[in-house]
Amino acid sequence: MAASILSRLTACSMLVVASAMPAPAQDRGTLDPKPLPPLAHPDAPSTPAKELFGRRAQPAPMAARAIGFYAKGCLAGARALPINGATWQVMRLSRNRNWGHPALIGLLEHLSVKAAKVGWPGLLVGDISQPRGGPMLTGHASHQVGLDADVWLTPMPNRELTRAEREHMSATDVVASHKRDVDPSVWTPAHLAVIKAAATEPQVERVFVNAAIKKAICREATGDRRWLEKVRPMWGHNYHFHVRISCPPGETSCKPQDPTPEGDGCGAALDWWFSDAVLHPKPPKTPPKPRPPLTMADLPPACRDVLLAP
Ligand SMILES: [Zn+2]
Repeated sequence: MAASILSRLTACSMLVVASAMPAPAQDRGTLDPKPLPPLAHPDAPSTPAKELFGRRAQPAPMAARAIGFYAKGCLAGARALPINGATWQVMRLSRNRNWGHPALIGLLEHLSVKAAKVGWPGLLVGDISQPRGGPMLTGHASHQVGLDADVWLTPMPNRELTRAEREHMSATDVVASHKRDVDPSVWTPAHLAVIKAAATEPQVERVFVNAAIKKAICREATGDRRWLEKVRPMWGHNYHFHVRISCPPGETSCKPQDPTPEGDGCGAALDWWFSDAVLHPKPPKTPPKPRPPLTMADLPPACRDVLLAP
C-alpha cells in the first residue's frame, strides 16, 4: 500500500532542483533548476533515501519534529528561513535547502541580530535542510533532521543580493593556503565575533570550523573561554561554519549526540589536525570502497510517514 503511494508520488508530484554537483558552500548553483526525472523503481528497497527525499519540494504538513540522528533521519513540519531578513540572506536558492526545524530557524533569526550587534553585518545562510530533511543527493552527511545550518564566512553586503549573485558568488576561504592557520589578509575580529555569537547560544551544541580557524580562535579569544568547547575542528569548513543545535526539548524522536569532550580543545588537542599525515595525506594504495547510500530501512520508520505525507 505504502509502496504504491510512493510510486505515484515519485512519478508525478516530486519536483525539485537537480544539481548534478557536489555542494560545498562555495559551489555555484544555477538560475535554471531542472526537476529531477522520476525514479524508475522508487519502491525498490535498495532505492537510496536521498533519491526520495531529494524529490520532495515541500515540507511534511505535520507537527514539527526532528526524527532520528543528525546524519540518519528526517524532519517533519519544517519551516523555511525567509530568503531575506534585515540581518540575513539565503544563498543558493536553487538548492531549496533553507528548511529547518522551527527551533533552528528561530535561532538563526536571533543569531543574525546578535551578530549584527558585534560587528558582523548579517548572515549569508547556506544549506540548512531539505523540506523533509533526510539524506541529500549532494554534499553533507548530516543536515538531515533540520538542526544543522551552514553560515558563510563572508559578511553580508549592505544590499539585497541578486538571484544570480546568490547562485554564483563564492563564499570566502579564510584559511591560508598552507592550511596551518587562517589567512591574516582575510580573517578579522568580526569572524571570531560571529562564531562566538553562535557558540554562546545555549541551544547551540556544536559549531564546526576548519582546524586552522579553531587554532585562530584559541589564540584570539579573550575572557570566559567556556564556549570554545563547542567550537569543534572539522574537515573543510574553511568557507563556512556549521551551527548544530541540540535536540529540541521533549522531542524523544530526536537522537542526541554525545557531549563534547571537556576542555577548550586548544593546544595539543589540535596537533593531529596539523600533522603531515592530515595536511598532506598520501593517496591510499587501494581506494576505500564507497559506503552504500542510506535506504529507507536505515532511517527511523517514522521517516516513511514524513516522506509520504501529502
Ligand atoms: Zn554543514
